[in-house]
Amino acid sequence: MEDNSIQPFQGIAEDVIQHLRFLQTIGVTHLGGASASPRPAPTETVSPVVTETGPAAPNQVQPAPETVAPAPIILQSHEVPSTMPQVSLFDAELPAEPVKPDHSLEDIRLDIGDCQRCKLAPTRTHLVFGDGNPNARLVFVGEAPGADEDASGIPFVGKAGQLLNKIIEAIGMKRDDVFICNVVKCRPPENRTPERDEIAACNGFLHRQLAVIRPKIIVALGAPSAFTLLGDNKIGSITRIRGQFFDYRGTPLMPTFHPAYLLRSPDKKREVWEDMKKVRDFLKQND
Ligand code: SF4
Repeated sequence: MEDNSIQPFQGIAEDVIQHLRFLQTIGVTHLGGASASPRPAPTETVSPVVTETGPAAPNQVQPAPETVAPAPIILQSHEVPSTMPQVSLFDAELPAEPVKPDHSLEDIRLDIGDCQRCKLAPTRTHLVFGDGNPNARLVFVGEAPGADEDASGIPFVGKAGQLLNKIIEAIGMKRDDVFICNVVKCRPPENRTPERDEIAACNGFLHRQLAVIRPKIIVALGAPSAFTLLGDNKIGSITRIRGQFFDYRGTPLMPTFHPAYLLRSPDKKREVWEDMKKVRDFLKQND
């Protein structure tokens, strides 16, 4: 006869095994020391802002300092209701939908053309439009192309990109299954954080891409991506908002740390795994 009393423990054991597999996949080889201690509460400071190839220089423009964050649109862990709660995060207006709807990503790429709409144009090698499945259920949005991406024209191909590939595989998907793009399509010089006017000039393309793809869920990688998509830079640091579902025009959005940040702070991979488990579970529940 089956002993039902051990079933809860089996679930916990499976979860631990999955967690360890994920950590192994993304390169964690040592568990112990400080990481075994209780984690301190999230700090009130703004997390380091990174591009795909490096952190922002100290004198760069950073997201606005902390203000009182609104109540997050939190869906308890894996429980995602069919109707997303509507909480206004929008101090700033989001760009309007295009007057003429796009029929495909190609329409948007044609519209971008040899774009000269902001001051990033003269220094780029390649415009990095985005890459992946045009019907993706999951879209990752980063901040800006780095050197490898500028050279190749493909997003997330450097070390951070390789880590992102492992993260995608860890939730049972392939890179070809998802779509990956950035807030701005051209590399900022020396990988600095994109400036407000550059984001304003470019983010309409991102919103149009998301409108065409219509993913089931979006993962915002890093603070600039989350703040751009949520239309508000007063919602707190990425440390505070990560791991919670927000509403992006009716689509769940999960903010988490940027892979380039994980390369410098590998202890944060645990948090990303927790966030990605919620994404994986949401996709399973909304197959
Ligand atoms: S970053 Fe965007 S708006 Fe600026 S030049 Fe590139 S494509 Fe155009």
